[in-house]
Amino acid sequence: MKVIVTGGTGYIGSHTIVDLLEHNFEVICIDNLSRSNKYALEGIEKITNKKPTFYNIDLCDRNATLKVLQEHKDAVGIIHFAALKSVGESVEKPLMYYANNIDSLLNVLIGMKSFSIPNFVFSSSCSVYGNADELPVTENTPIKNAESPYAHTKQIGEDIIRNFATVNPIQQHILLRYFNPVGAHPSALIGEIPIEKPNNLVPYITQTAIGKLDELTVFGNDYNTRDGSCVRDYIHVCDIANAHTLALQFLIDKKNKTNCEVFNLGTGNGVSVLEAIAAFEKVSNKKLNYTIGPRRAGDVVAVYADNTRAQQALNWNCKYNIEDAMLSAWNWENKMQELKL
Ligand code: UDP
Repeated sequence: MKVIVTGGTGYIGSHTIVDLLEHNFEVICIDNLSRSNKYALEGIEKITNKKPTFYNIDLCDRNATLKVLQEHKDAVGIIHFAALKSVGESVEKPLMYYANNIDSLLNVLIGMKSFSIPNFVFSSSCSVYGNADELPVTENTPIKNAESPYAHTKQIGEDIIRNFATVNPIQQHILLRYFNPVGAHPSALIGEIPIEKPNNLVPYITQTAIGKLDELTVFGNDYNTRDGSCVRDYIHVCDIANAHTLALQFLIDKKNKTNCEVFNLGTGNGVSVLEAIAAFEKVSNKKLNYTIGPRRAGDVVAVYADNTRAQQALNWNCKYNIEDAMLSAWNWENKMQELKL
């Protein structure tokens, strides 16, 4: 069965392609390589001994998008990852974020409708919940104001798909809300390739440990949490990837109750910044150079998922814990140094 993956050379996209190929899907990968590296295709091939068909296409180009989707209208579904994802950059350049993330989604949906491709899986984010009042966050936790233009593009994207689903009973949709994806494939052949100084905690930790960055600042240790630092739900990227294969299969098998279903993808466990650092130090056997600094503006104090729905409906379980994730992130950082990425 053929599946179209947009943003397939990116961090989660590349890991998902590996999982799909390992489950015998044929993969059509679309990416404009604006925020990713073609090396991902090599890594995917080394792991799976299979090659996705690759199109270097900007999904904001409607004609180019429609042409590829028409060519592959026999696909069983589309998994749509392609998007800009830096929270800070989205605050600086909101128009660029709205234009890119919304135009590309619209073009893909228009193509999907035009060529009757039956199933759609959308990359959403726990950032759609904003500052949630209740923990853990379930799929029914109320959606609050978005904290950034990036998060708002995910809220709008979900709304567009929901509206489209209402009047298109033929097509089936799943919205996957990721918590904090971290780590890399255990082979250390693919992983996240940061294009500039990272903002996220785990690449910041591994780059500090390898000497690319001088030190890590822990943004606040005076929060009302068990050790004073913020709490997040760090989930191994391979667990996230596998959920996409299961979500697509769930739609193919017609197990969905409505034609737009939502699932949280988190481990269900909250881990503090200091606990994440301790897990890294344990598995890498390295002392991390870090200091405690002021709080970061806009940080949510604590957020973690209730993942019961994904476990029950998709028969999905997390195979990796925070230590596995840290070790794989560290192995990948070393591999990137070797590959000069
Ligand atoms: N964090 C930190 N130092 C850094 C980067 C992140 O202390 O250099 C903290 C941040 O305040 C947050 C957690 O690590 O509590 C996760 O941050 P990240 O940006 O990775 O994810 P997000 O805040 O978007 O969930």
